[in-house]
Amino acid sequence: MNPGLRALHCLRCGATHAPVPRAYDCPACRGMDADEPGILDAIWDYPVLADRFRRDVAAGGDALARFGALLPAPPDDITPVHPSPLLDAPTLARDLGCETLRLKYEGANPARCLKDRATALATGLAQAAGADTVYCASAGNAAISLATFATRAGLACEVFVPSTLSVERVTLLRGLGAEVHLVDGPYDAAFDLAEQVAGPRGWYSRNCALNPWLVEGKKTVAFEIAEQLGWRSPDWVVAPVGDGCTLAALGKGFRELVAVGLLDRVPRLLGVQAAAVAPLVRRMNRPMPAPAEAATRAASIHVERPRNARRLLAELAACGGDLVAVSDGETAAAQETLRRAVGDGVEFTSATTLAGARRAGALAGSVVLVVTSGREE
Ligand SMILES: *Cc1c(COP(=O)(O)O)cnc(C)c1O
Ligand SMILES: [Zn+2]
Repeated sequence: MNPGLRALHCLRCGATHAPVPRAYDCPACRGMDADEPGILDAIWDYPVLADRFRRDVAAGGDALARFGALLPAPPDDITPVHPSPLLDAPTLARDLGCETLRLKYEGANPARCLKDRATALATGLAQAAGADTVYCASAGNAAISLATFATRAGLACEVFVPSTLSVERVTLLRGLGAEVHLVDGPYDAAFDLAEQVAGPRGWYSRNCALNPWLVEGKKTVAFEIAEQLGWRSPDWVVAPVGDGCTLAALGKGFRELVAVGLLDRVPRLLGVQAAAVAPLVRRMNRPMPAPAEAATRAASIHVERPRNARRLLAELAACGGDLVAVSDGETAAAQETLRRAVGDGVEFTSATTLAGARRAGALAGSVVLVVTSGREE
């Protein structure tokens, strides 16, 4: 493990734990509250790491590994994750009334989604931990990402997905050699079953909601955005929210760039949920679109019990961020617009970012929408 790591800190009870590859949720908090596991957060020694981080990043390099000074272990180098494009969308900026609008297009990653940034660390750590099998629960993207990396790394892969997952995605997963467990019920049910089955078998977890190292992989999207803007912070960064790991990781990434002296401020974060499944928007008492919808097509953020709620709410408080809920009708229109702006596929869930920016209104200055996935089927 990276010697610049000080410890893992439990966000629920405050206990600290050793930074080992198989650290998941806080053992002291286990069984206390089914809705809130003890999520661990990696504590880094920034003053010691700052010089090395700045030197490595300046030296270039073409993939995630150049951020290694702030990663727990080297990412998988068999399937490298290269910087994803940051696309300028001037017409959309005019339309929304902000100064600039940019699209961080994660559809360019190896398995076409942001999840690859976490997976690249998981398969590396699994090998460091001596595991021969990796697993995850997933609404689809994490499973496809894990299966893509695992098959190339020679690791067996077990995925737990809702039985409502599209035939295309299930076929793709099986084609990649994954063992697919179809679970009746939503992602939350798949998550519970995965933990029950995998724990005793010693499989390595790619569940970002519990494995604290995976958020460290996701934070690299913040590093790239800042670098692509010439080490300037945007005013707003918008991302969809399921478990909350992605947006919380963006917040952590930007704060770290301030800590190592590469940025002088952080952006405000805007998280978007689908109105039909918006537990965090409700918890924050933010307005809901009317009329209420019974279901959502934004399957990748269909999370009824967000396990990283505490982490995300802390990041939102630190930056003056906000949460917004959008209807599927708003998202459908946004998907069509984003497709044209990107010139490539945009997943329905990822289009909630544009719908959310519209609904939030008055996002002044420079705005970045994180287009988390390019997979449409
Ligand atoms: C997983 C996912 C998200 C949300 O990430 P969380 O970390 O669960 O909040 C957003 N968009 C897409 C496309 C995803 O696959
Ligand atoms: Zn704890």
